[in-house]
Amino acid sequence: MVASLKRDSPYNSGLMAKITFLGAAGTVTGSKYLVEAGGKRLLVDCGLFEGSKALRQRNWEALPIPPSSIDWVLLTHAHIDHTGYLPRLVAAGFAGPIYATPATHELCMLLLRDSAHLQEEDALYASKKGYSTHTPPLPLYTVAEAETTLTRFREIPRADAFTISPQFSVRPHDAGHILGSSWLELTITENGKQIRVVFSGDLGRYDQPILKDPEAPSRADYLLCESTYGDRDHPAGSVPDELAGVINQTAKRGGAVVIPSFAVGRTQTLMYYLRKLEQQQRIPRLPVYVDSPMAINVTDLYERHTEDHDLEFTRDEQGGKGDPLNVHEVHMTRTVEESKQINDVVSPCIIISASGMISGGRVLHHLARRLPDSRSTVMLVGYQAQGSGGRALQEGAKFLRIHGQEVPVRAQVVEIAQLSAHAGKSELLRWLSGFQAPPRQTFLIHGEPVALNALRDAVTSQFHWPVTIPAYQQTFDLNP
Ligand SMILES: [Zn+2]
Repeated sequence: MVASLKRDSPYNSGLMAKITFLGAAGTVTGSKYLVEAGGKRLLVDCGLFEGSKALRQRNWEALPIPPSSIDWVLLTHAHIDHTGYLPRLVAAGFAGPIYATPATHELCMLLLRDSAHLQEEDALYASKKGYSTHTPPLPLYTVAEAETTLTRFREIPRADAFTISPQFSVRPHDAGHILGSSWLELTITENGKQIRVVFSGDLGRYDQPILKDPEAPSRADYLLCESTYGDRDHPAGSVPDELAGVINQTAKRGGAVVIPSFAVGRTQTLMYYLRKLEQQQRIPRLPVYVDSPMAINVTDLYERHTEDHDLEFTRDEQGGKGDPLNVHEVHMTRTVEESKQINDVVSPCIIISASGMISGGRVLHHLARRLPDSRSTVMLVGYQAQGSGGRALQEGAKFLRIHGQEVPVRAQVVEIAQLSAHAGKSELLRWLSGFQAPPRQTFLIHGEPVALNALRDAVTSQFHWPVTIPAYQQTFDLNP
């Protein structure tokens, strides 16, 4: 494949296998890892940068290599910070297949369409209000571009090895992070020699409802490990106890509990706990509004993809007590009209709506309505990236800018950090302890600098492995 080596790239200067960090290097979002071997290019994950304006700006910049020179994309899981750049990649010339597990594929059908829809809505809104930096405001990609991208998906087996090409084969393992999420064992074959690279993807937590635990790894020549919570553990408190406390207090004040929630995973976990608490009569039977058409569709996927369910959830499903993801009075609101009507609800209620980091979506309208109300509560239930609305609330902002307006924050803001879908520091170390021999090099990625440095210190002191924190766009040789 000599022709492919002529591609104009500084990254492809020889036959040696290489990896280049095109995202989630020194930061959490934008996951993109370019693996090159035998003149072929495989991109592992293709995420959107999210959070601060400077990071989001990168989504508009051209990749340092032509997208048409990439042969395949392989996904760890469906989250937008791992897949949301795909429509842009395809629009810019990527012509190959996109490989994903069946559940990840189905989730991407929902998430990429939604992402494109949000991009279009935001551009439209910005042009109406005249506060965009682009004139006229453009979406990063359109729904039509997302549709084209979805035609490129090819499903790979949930747990078996899959051969991509003579150079690359992959085996996905349960990562326990969201439905379909996998850590990937990539085998590169070059000059008759094999190099095993493990991509942690995003790792989930142990002993959580619904999904299986992260599967233990055993060996890798090179390891890429996420570091989102590399500097801390989640609080040890019980999620049901804390949920019950917040819901009971807010209901007593006559307020609403607004939960900006990730439609994938968090919403289903919340519904699971709310149902348990209702059954145990630990909370009043309040109306629960799941105000996110996507969350509703995702819940359906969670119920259908039984291959990802852990034993406890399987027992709940088969126990004959009804749907374990449904509360007594649930309103699944799909239309914008129904969503707006929730603003008229004056009695205590629970509103679950996306986006989880308060960076867009319907939750903005609920926050504009409820944040100024001191009886209400905003419950943060996940990671809040730097520069996001959620991070501002976490840090005690007195005002939140929503659709160009300064909205006063009078509602109580609470955080239930235990609901995180990400492994905490000790859980990352627990997963890493599965390796039976030290990887030749461990690259720490997908973390903010404080978390990356803390995890590096922990890995070097506990395991004595060589650890590197790669910089954005840095390239490394991979030796057999
Ligand atoms: Zn994720």
